[in-house]
Amino acid sequence: MLRLYDTARGDVVPFEPRERGKVSMYVCGPTVYGPPHLGHGRFSLVFDVVRRYLTWAGNEVTYVSNITDIDDNIIERAEREQRDWRELAQRCEAVWYRAMDALDVLRPDSDPHATAFVERMVALVERLVAAGVGYETGDGVYFRAEAVDDYGLLARQPLDSLRAGARVEGSDEKRSPVDFALWKKAKPGEPTWPSPWGGGRPGWHTECVVMSLDLLGEGFDIHGGGQDLAFPHHENERAQAVADGRRFARHWLHNGFVEVEGTKMSKSLGNVTNLVDLVEQYDARAYRLLVLRSHYRSPMDVTDDSLRDAEAALDRLDAFGRRVAGLGGGPGADPDALTRFRAAMDDDLDTPAATALVFDLVRRANTALDAGEAATAGPLAAAVGEITGALGLAIRGDEAAVPADLEALAQRRDEARAARDWATADKLRKEIAAAGYVVEDTPAGTVVRPA
Ligand SMILES: [Zn+2]
Repeated sequence: MLRLYDTARGDVVPFEPRERGKVSMYVCGPTVYGPPHLGHGRFSLVFDVVRRYLTWAGNEVTYVSNITDIDDNIIERAEREQRDWRELAQRCEAVWYRAMDALDVLRPDSDPHATAFVERMVALVERLVAAGVGYETGDGVYFRAEAVDDYGLLARQPLDSLRAGARVEGSDEKRSPVDFALWKKAKPGEPTWPSPWGGGRPGWHTECVVMSLDLLGEGFDIHGGGQDLAFPHHENERAQAVADGRRFARHWLHNGFVEVEGTKMSKSLGNVTNLVDLVEQYDARAYRLLVLRSHYRSPMDVTDDSLRDAEAALDRLDAFGRRVAGLGGGPGADPDALTRFRAAMDDDLDTPAATALVFDLVRRANTALDAGEAATAGPLAAAVGEITGALGLAIRGDEAAVPADLEALAQRRDEARAARDWATADKLRKEIAAAGYVVEDTPAGTVVRPA
């Protein structure tokens, strides 16, 4: 049974979906005003792995991740660069999805855009004001955090200490520093939508609560995001749902921070300042492998060394893929390996253990192949294929890695061997080796792979 750390309960708990066999996930997506950074890459990969694993385990998963396409940062950058804010948001969204595609992050089933839900957000704010938990000020409408009994749950801190530590942001008219904006009245020249409090735009925390409940329904299964979102963003979403009398997320998952070369947001990783640079300068799969090698709740340190090391590991995986490609479709995956994989993942997503298992299986299968034991190697290789698939880690074992003329030589060598013409077979082996490739005899015939 899958067990996950739930931030709201502060403990690892059994994962109990609303409906057996169906899992609904909402993951807070990007605010599109600049290129994605490495932290965006991590949360996207962590939740992509959660999604893929749940699917592999037999669940029907619905994955929703929003695009915040209106926000103070978008407005500020558009103003600074004298551009249309819509055009800026659209371009940044395109950059976002290009980076996600490079990382093999599956597209969400639905990616609601904040601007398409403003009317429904206004309706929620109206209900909150009517219920006495929202109040209007000169610059907007605010939520009274004190109105929710257990406010601070996701911060794992009581309201008193949050109030003492809160930075005073926004209006002086806020009744408490922990109160937050539900609606922001527009300043001249800013984009605006109509509301009972005049033209303006919704607060960020209101967008996700409306879109998640609208698309996934009450009591949806997993609400996820980076650890920095737990408070105040997620807590403020939750507070609105509670005040509106709605059952919100059943499980709260948060992933740890990303550090670059040991420090938060340093620029010392070569020329890599964001995710777009990273997927251009390294094998994009290396970042997924780094994410898998870190437990999702731990901080993850990204360095040039760790990325190069991940690339070297991927080379071994690819070489293995080419080596076993010649084994042909065959046996099912080794059941013991799959049991171990499931046990690791069910233990609060122990992807470091699952990843170590993959490389252990590769070693064992290679040893078996070296000994000519294809029957032993087959099920192990099939398990490697299945597990890497469930983790979204593509193996490039494609034939394209070996030039077609060498493959033709390998085929002629098989023919020579079948005709017991050992001299020709040996001559062909030397020709292939001279081109820098290793020749192996397998039960399926000659396999060629880069040396
Ligand atoms: Zn959100």
